[in-house]
Amino acid sequence: MGIISKIIGASFAGIGAVVMFLGMNDPVWSYLWFFAGIFLMSVGLSLITGGRKPAETEPPPPTVTDIRCDNPECDFKEIRNFESGDYILKPVNAKCPKCSGSMTIEGVYVVKEDKDAEKDKI
Ligand SMILES: [Zn+2]
Repeated sequence: MGIISKIIGASFAGIGAVVMFLGMNDPVWSYLWFFAGIFLMSVGLSLITGGRKPAETEPPPPTVTDIRCDNPECDFKEIRNFESGDYILKPVNAKCPKCSGSMTIEGVYVVKEDKDAEKDKI
């Protein structure tokens, strides 16, 4: 990763330099060309040096589904990966492995990866 953004950054910086250079010949708009060139060069340099933010797309946050058995005397619960279509209080197709009762989705959580690894209820 990063090679493409460096190439793009280098071309931006190069174009910016050319724009600045050519803009000097424009008696009216030279300062506009100058700022456009500065802008392109700074964009290019930021791509070359630390261009992570625009280049890499973040993966979706890990989401889990909290499934509980409907039987109040059965304490079975399961946390599995979120599947599309999951929502809170949705009845689950699968039977409870402990009592063969029906199960319901009790919660859908986004698992935060940063320091305070608390769960956010959607
Ligand atoms: Zn059960």
